[in-house]
Amino acid sequence: MDGKRIPRVVVVGGGFGGLLAARSTARLPVQVTLVDRKNHHTFQPLLYQVATAGLSPGEIAAPIRGILRGRNVEVLMGEVQAFDLGRRVVKLRDLDVPYDYLIVAAGASHAYFGHDEWEPLAPGLKTIEDAIEIRRRILLAFELAERHAASGEGQVQLNFVIVGGGPTGVELAGTLAEIARRVLADEFHAIDPKRTRIVLLEGGPRVLPAYPEDLSRSAEEQLRHLGVEVRTSTMVTGIEPAAVLMGETRLSAAVILWAAGVAASPLGKKLGAPVDRAGRVLVEPDLSLPGHPEVFVIGDLASLKDENGKPLPGVAPVAMQQGKAVAHNIARDLKGEPRRNFHYLDKGSLATIGRSAGIAQFGKLHISGFVAWLSWLFIHIFFLIGFRNRIIVFIQWAWSYFTYERGARLITGDTNLPGWTELQAEKTPSRAAD
Ligand SMILES: Cc1cc2nc3c(=O)[nH]c(=O)nc-3n(C[C@H](O)[C@H](O)[C@H](O)COP(=O)(O)OP(=O)(O)OC[C@H]3O[C@@H](n4cnc5c(N)ncnc54)[C@H](O)[C@@H]3O)c2cc1C
Repeated sequence: MDGKRIPRVVVVGGGFGGLLAARSTARLPVQVTLVDRKNHHTFQPLLYQVATAGLSPGEIAAPIRGILRGRNVEVLMGEVQAFDLGRRVVKLRDLDVPYDYLIVAAGASHAYFGHDEWEPLAPGLKTIEDAIEIRRRILLAFELAERHAASGEGQVQLNFVIVGGGPTGVELAGTLAEIARRVLADEFHAIDPKRTRIVLLEGGPRVLPAYPEDLSRSAEEQLRHLGVEVRTSTMVTGIEPAAVLMGETRLSAAVILWAAGVAASPLGKKLGAPVDRAGRVLVEPDLSLPGHPEVFVIGDLASLKDENGKPLPGVAPVAMQQGKAVAHNIARDLKGEPRRNFHYLDKGSLATIGRSAGIAQFGKLHISGFVAWLSWLFIHIFFLIGFRNRIIVFIQWAWSYFTYERGARLITGDTNLPGWTELQAEKTPSRAAD
């Protein structure tokens, strides 16, 4: 970098980390470019509400260009393919974007433990497209079961199986139970949606393993109270059309959802530095890439331990604080001051389970039930990007809370459900069969 030219900062990713990094570096005497393959930022904590027809996609996503309007940030929509760290360029398919500082915040997605062939049968929840596909499958299952029964061919047992008892699996299971037991209960003639089984499978001994044990137990109780069958210490060994295999046990399933495992963006490996088992880049304490102080990796793509040697969790506050911290270190570089190591300020963690149910941990304070759910609701709506969305989401939420209605029950796209033919052939299996 020569003395006269304004340094160019390139941010890859417009998620929680990338947006904060772009907003914070835009205040410095630098040129900022943000590249994302999507034109929108997705508020991932509320994706499960889109997947379960409570909110519409536009209520939890906002155009990146709009969020950064009026700021010193150029926005480019395009997929980053590779990096040339020697020449200091980010490579898009048809464009090389040069940088003096690079901040990579490309996030993570779900992992199928080497079984990518399971993905079409058991979609995961990461993007708006995923949420719409899950919503399609859930609503379609009820419609197909009704048609089947109406044609006099008997009842098809609807089992919804969710693999993975982390926050996303727990949220999906709790909300699906609410849909089956309350929202759709009186809307069908030939089937009884209340007979739907919601089964949550977790490989470890308890759900929400990142939380203290008492809160995990409470979450499990709240799930059971909502009508979810929770099976812990249960490893999934196979997924077939309309069935989940657990060793010798076979569980038939109209809809299978995947909420297990994390795989970092493949861009992590393309940076050429060591990565952990999930493909996260092992960054220096100042979040820079080993051997490349001008490159930073943040958010779900970065692997860093806290002062006690515990890996930082893949949550939005970590990504956001890291985005800001990197901007501060670039500012220090520009002033010729030494950099500071990243320190995560943990303000607490919350998980929602379903209507009026949740758990929360604020330091030594552990809360369960309605108060935890309410705290989750207010904190997440408060952080929704864009004021317009915040008000709409709040009104939607209040409406569906009091009326049990879910306003976004649209089946769009294909009207085939993977595995439906196989499931029809099984016909009303008894509960004892699995
Ligand atoms: C369903 C779900 C629920 C969650 N719930 C919570 C919660 O309640 N609370 C909480 O704190 N956290 C929650 N999280 C985790 C939280 O969303 C992540 O920790 C956070 O989004 C990480 O931010 P990030 O910036 O690292 O990545 P992301 O927010 O994932 O952003 C990555 C961005 O990079 C872009 N990108 C990726 N690859 C490329 C490429 N090759 N070229 C161009 N652009 C690219 C993507 O389009 C995306 O915009 C949840 C996550 C999910 C999936």
